[in-house]
Amino acid sequence: MIYLCGGLDKKDIENAGIVYGFMDGSLDFNPGNLTARKELLKKTVHYSYEVEQSHGINIAVLDEKFKEAAKDNYNVFDINNADGVFTKERGIALCIRTADCVPVLFADINNTERVIGAVHCGWKGAYGGIIKNAKNILTDEFKADIGGILIIIGPSICKKCYEVKEDFLNLFLAKDTLNKKFFDKTVNENRIFFDLKGFIRNELISNGFSDKNIYDLNICNFEDAGFFSYRRDKDGKRQVSFIAVL
Ligand SMILES: [Zn+2]
Repeated sequence: MIYLCGGLDKKDIENAGIVYGFMDGSLDFNPGNLTARKELLKKTVHYSYEVEQSHGINIAVLDEKFKEAAKDNYNVFDINNADGVFTKERGIALCIRTADCVPVLFADINNTERVIGAVHCGWKGAYGGIIKNAKNILTDEFKADIGGILIIIGPSICKKCYEVKEDFLNLFLAKDTLNKKFFDKTVNENRIFFDLKGFIRNELISNGFSDKNIYDLNICNFEDAGFFSYRRDKDGKRQVSFIAVL
């Protein structure tokens, strides 16, 4: 099943010729499953592109040479340690695999040339500044107006379910004491929980994206058994989030 984001006016994005979606656990996107990728292509466009996802902050850009280089290889895998990808090329589904981390999709629907992006955002990437890198790509490479870009957040672990250790909290506090607001402690302070999506939303807004343009699917994959969760299941199964310009 493919989920769309409530609150986001479908017409806005469909009229712009953009398709996106969040698959549940009915399609396992672990890296070895090519059948799942073929299923996705049937539902969407001609090519799929998947970033390597090394919990880093690199972002790839696909230009007009992409299709020529890909030729008949319809499932293209990044080999450049990227965790995000942007393009204005049509017919390429940008894909992010997750099972707790946050898939963040970007769509510039204001320009005549649409720009889309997909970013894998775990705590390391978010902490390391991948959102700032995304902003820089959008402004430098695509001359996009950051304030008008739609952002769609997919299935990911919520703050009630993301338990962390004291040293994790301290790492974030060492960066900025204001990060305290993204952590909840239980009454006896034995357990600490992290609001990863809250942290990412804050990163987005501090980099100039507009709060009113951020849409959240609001599904916690850890709680919903229809989705994969690494923390819950300890396996390699991953759901996919995708976006493409038709
Ligand atoms: Zn949850």
